[in-house]
Amino acid sequence: MTLKLSLKAAGAFSLLLCSGLTFATSQADSHLSAQGDSAVSAKPPLQAAPKISALADRVAQYALNTYGDETISALSTLIPFKTVETEGMTPLTHPEFIGFKAQLKSLSQSLGLDYSDQGYVVLIGLGEGEQKLGVITHGDVQPADASFWQQDPFTLDSQSQPGFLIGRGTEDDKGAIVTAMYAMKAIKDKGLALNRRIELLVYLAEESDWAPLKAFLTDFTPADINITIDAEYPVVTAEKGWSEIRLTIPKMPKTPKMPKMPKNGKAASSASASLDGFSGGAFDSQVPQQAVAKISGLDKKTIAALKDKASAQQGMKYQFEQTSSEGQVNGQLTITAEGKSTHSSTPEAGVNAVTHLAELLKGIHFARSESAMTAKFIQQMVGLGLYGEQFGDIAYEDDFMGPMTLAATLVKPNDQGTEIVLNLRRPVGKTPEQLDLETHQALEGWQAQHQVSLEGIETYWGEPKLMDKAPHLQTLLSVFGHFTDTPSPRPVAIGGSTNSKLFPNALSFGPAMPGVEYTGHSEHEFITKAQFMLNLQMYTAAFVELAASTEELSEQAKQGTKQKTKQAAKTGAQRTSD
Ligand SMILES: [Zn+2]
Repeated sequence: MTLKLSLKAAGAFSLLLCSGLTFATSQADSHLSAQGDSAVSAKPPLQAAPKISALADRVAQYALNTYGDETISALSTLIPFKTVETEGMTPLTHPEFIGFKAQLKSLSQSLGLDYSDQGYVVLIGLGEGEQKLGVITHGDVQPADASFWQQDPFTLDSQSQPGFLIGRGTEDDKGAIVTAMYAMKAIKDKGLALNRRIELLVYLAEESDWAPLKAFLTDFTPADINITIDAEYPVVTAEKGWSEIRLTIPKMPKTPKMPKMPKNGKAASSASASLDGFSGGAFDSQVPQQAVAKISGLDKKTIAALKDKASAQQGMKYQFEQTSSEGQVNGQLTITAEGKSTHSSTPEAGVNAVTHLAELLKGIHFARSESAMTAKFIQQMVGLGLYGEQFGDIAYEDDFMGPMTLAATLVKPNDQGTEIVLNLRRPVGKTPEQLDLETHQALEGWQAQHQVSLEGIETYWGEPKLMDKAPHLQTLLSVFGHFTDTPSPRPVAIGGSTNSKLFPNALSFGPAMPGVEYTGHSEHEFITKAQFMLNLQMYTAAFVELAASTEELSEQAKQGTKQKTKQAAKTGAQRTSD
């Protein structure tokens, strides 16, 4: 008897008992002893073992068999719309958004789902009634820099890497929309009676502006239980608060290059160098892929030393370009740093080009300038750490939610100077007032040390969210555990921030696997075909468990269930005697 069989058997039981949750504990125990996992057995799980109804399992299998391929072609029709926030336009006026909505409408119609355009929100539903299961997604995407992609980021690429579906929005969050729609279609095909209307909500400005969604929710009654499919599995019950510190290093008058007393030979040889440009990053919530420094007045020895140091940096690639121009001692050196972009809520998955470039330049004495102070700020206040270790007393962590992260995401010269954006994700444990105080203290210390007045200092502290009492937590954990053979999945906390914060009882459920790099917001966004198919199964099963009535099954479904239940009774008895 395989483990899988015993899990399915347990699933049949839950259908028989209807409220199967209380029954689950003994299954959990027998499952664990069967696994012989002493580390886990030593501490009995609080959560029940994975088990889902036979019906959910069967409809999920049907969805996969019937619509697996079709979901991929449907996804390929959504990716080409560049639903990127654009200045001067809104989702109501932007042709790409209008086209995207038209495509969603046509897809909904072809699947027999109801469709309603509410402006910033599109509702796609199955079933009637006041009681609803809400499924929260978004249709807007982050910008993509085509120069980093092998193929057009807005064309679904399923060829260049076998098993991968590559394109902007595949993981975040158009893939999730398609999966949810086909899960609903499978349920519709099977004629299951619903005790909750399934309502997919597609918001169109999740990446840029939550205000229109908040406004929408003032006269829209959301479901009382919601699933957000914009993060990761198993189930996210805590999200860190999206936070930000912005400041500007002001423009500075040119000062004559003053040779300083060298601390070491290297500094002496570069005493007349000047940093003429330092910038990097693409947008607030992405760990920068690229950064650029422009330097003049460096001697050959220092450049050679820089190249050595550059090649020793893990995960970074550098380009050194020299031009000799008149009036410059040795011409200008442009250093282009390439790291690895990632979502700023998971900075450990990327290599920050800005902080690494700043680190590379550490130890060179540059004449005082806006760019030199910018690099110094990054070196001294951020460094290569990911958790605000160098930023005064700001760093802290929570046992469940983990450490606050701090990523330098944008360094951008403008009319006032160079703006620096630090994107932070904070767990519970400190108040916004305390964080604000610590931030200002840290910045004051730095300004005093360098005789600089930072301009435009702004802070924003988003609220961390804890949602560990939602009624459908156990069901979602069971669905995940069942389809991934995970004995006792536990809820997780993430650094990302989804709009689930705005909905009652909203739990994040996928679409990314735990421990697997999240590629949304990166310049290599993809979802594997295998994951896409697994998501189709899991969303179908979750919708069945949460929205389908077990009492109003078709005769065929009842018949199937009875048979499986008999088997389950047998195998269940065997298992408990193991
Ligand atoms: Zn998203």
